[in-house]
Amino acid sequence: MSNEGLSNLLHEERTFEPSEEFRAQANAGQELFDRAAEDREGFWAEQARRYVQWETDFEQVLDWSEAPFAKWFLGGRLNACVNAVDRHVEVGHGDRVAIHWVGEPEGETRDITYAELHQMVQRAANALADLGVGEGDTVAIYLPMIPEAAIAMLACARLGAPHSVVFGGFSAEALHSRIDDAGAKVVITADGGYRRGKPSALKPAVDAALAHDENPVQKVLVVQRTGQDVDWTNGRDLWWHEALEAAAETHEAQAFDAEHPLFILYTSGTTGKPKGIFHATGGYLVQTAYTSHVVHDLHPDSDVYWCTADIGWVTGHSYIVYGPMTLGATQVMYEGTPDTPHQGRFWEIVQDLKVTVLYTAPTAIRTFMKWGTDIPAKFDLSSLRLLGSVGEPINPEAWMWYREHIGADRCPIVDTWWQTETGAIMISPLPGVTAARPGSAMKAIPGIVAKVVDDMGQEVEKGSGGYLVITEPWPSMLRGIWGDPKRYQETYWSRFPDAYFAGDGAKLDEDGNIWVVGRVDDVMNVSGHRMSTSEIESALVSHPKVAEAAVVGAADETTGQAICAFVILRADAVAEADSQAAAGEGEKLVQELRNHVAKEIGPIAKPRQIMVVPELPKTRSGKIMRRLLKDVAEHREVGDVTTLADSSVMSLISDGMQKG
Ligand code: ATP
Ligand code: MG
Repeated sequence: MSNEGLSNLLHEERTFEPSEEFRAQANAGQELFDRAAEDREGFWAEQARRYVQWETDFEQVLDWSEAPFAKWFLGGRLNACVNAVDRHVEVGHGDRVAIHWVGEPEGETRDITYAELHQMVQRAANALADLGVGEGDTVAIYLPMIPEAAIAMLACARLGAPHSVVFGGFSAEALHSRIDDAGAKVVITADGGYRRGKPSALKPAVDAALAHDENPVQKVLVVQRTGQDVDWTNGRDLWWHEALEAAAETHEAQAFDAEHPLFILYTSGTTGKPKGIFHATGGYLVQTAYTSHVVHDLHPDSDVYWCTADIGWVTGHSYIVYGPMTLGATQVMYEGTPDTPHQGRFWEIVQDLKVTVLYTAPTAIRTFMKWGTDIPAKFDLSSLRLLGSVGEPINPEAWMWYREHIGADRCPIVDTWWQTETGAIMISPLPGVTAARPGSAMKAIPGIVAKVVDDMGQEVEKGSGGYLVITEPWPSMLRGIWGDPKRYQETYWSRFPDAYFAGDGAKLDEDGNIWVVGRVDDVMNVSGHRMSTSEIESALVSHPKVAEAAVVGAADETTGQAICAFVILRADAVAEADSQAAAGEGEKLVQELRNHVAKEIGPIAKPRQIMVVPELPKTRSGKIMRRLLKDVAEHREVGDVTTLADSSVMSLISDGMQKG
């Protein structure tokens, strides 16, 4: 990167203040910022004692003497599962629903109260202990979105056995490498799960992953979900329901050190080989519960919360399992895809279960935009009071669409920036305090110190761009890369002295708000102007015909890099585009879009090339893989596609490219 800084492309003037009504009932107010600014460690000690039940209180808040290796809440002992489950039963909330589970096949639901969850986690912990799982043993979890996924995680936490959840959509090879890397002793899986209306097998992938000569796995626990036939290895495989039935009913949970590893989780692999990030129990639980309370504004006695992420991603760990459950909240867990059996499924669930707080990803929002506003309009969404977004920069137009068509122009939106590595939300509006700007994650939450710096690590001026760094340790920070402390130091702490940097670029606006613009690798240099791909994408998405866009910089002899855009049209624009193309006027739309970008941003940002495509390559967690599109735009062989949700997308795009 040059010193010149990012060109400031988009100018967003719209601001949305929280309503008086929302402000009055919000969990967090301005005083939280003041308290954290006055005494950061004291602030975190207060949050730790407020949100978490300690078996033994901690003696020291933070030890940063061996930076970048942090220890938080030293001397404290706790059990994460007791915090997420047992204590709610103890204080009389056993009858509260913990999980409203909605299966993909319509009509298939399960409501699980905290008391029932308590029974299940005890039996599951005993069953795992019977298989020899104890403190420090790792367990791999490879399950669909069924309650057993949360139960398995909590049972592991109860035993002090770090879990490593592997997304159920991953291949046998991906599963194998993660099992191997984590040294898992036991795998918990299912016969299969439902996906787009059909049962889809899971167990064969486990069998294939374990067919390798050397693997650490001794036992495989299999949940019966679909009832499909499975191959069975006697002596190794056991049915989950049989093991739980045979196990003792009650389990006395032991407390573990605050720094005891809670889990390992691999990053989504958007930029390259996934990294095995591990988190410690105490600090992680404190910050996930705190952020569920102040950012998602959860009121456990009245909210019905729904985070649509898969449990295989960090969002599912922090904002399905540990954060909301530590608060004792009621939530929805949905097994399937948003279009099964119809494109209104999400809104039907919101309506039927009266969901109040919804947390989803920009990729989902853009998909809903593509399907059209008439779909959510058919459902009663009036129960909603707060909306959240996570996973990618949200384009201002997608933000506006979410606010208008889902939030009835009434619900605040929290755009939350964080990563697998940060464990919990770091930058976000506080919904009862912050006047939000569409497309900006706004400011670091109380207790977190984030900055935008230039090449030399100096803070940039308002109105400029640079690198997003975190300059003070935080409770839920990763404790390392599993088994590789050196890689941890090199990956995150070597680019800038005394600051954590994990690859994202950002801009500061005139009011000091942070705009995360995506990975620094995705910044383009066109005739000496440094531009972020996400801003040009946002300009394209602001055109009424465009639902989604991905922009890459392709090598160009004259300009250094040239802007290449791939766009998906909204449903109602497809027919018109098709008839134009049939009449040999395909260029018309492309010209219209190029001119639109020039108008929104300036002629310099006009894409050299725009391709209309049916789909974009995305990771399994829904992030656009720009590096693959760059391969296409530069006419190279397409790189590693193993974390792609649908690998056939790339051939669709390459074929279109050759024709075009
Ligand atoms: P890998 O590190 O293996 O390439 P990944 O970074 O996609 O994978 P995650 O930890 O799941 O894996 O994603 C974190 C990244 O997601 C952030 O670094 C950022 O680029 C992006 N992100 C998440 N939330 C937001 C947000 N609200 N605004 C902008 N970007 C976001
Ligand atoms: Mg990352």
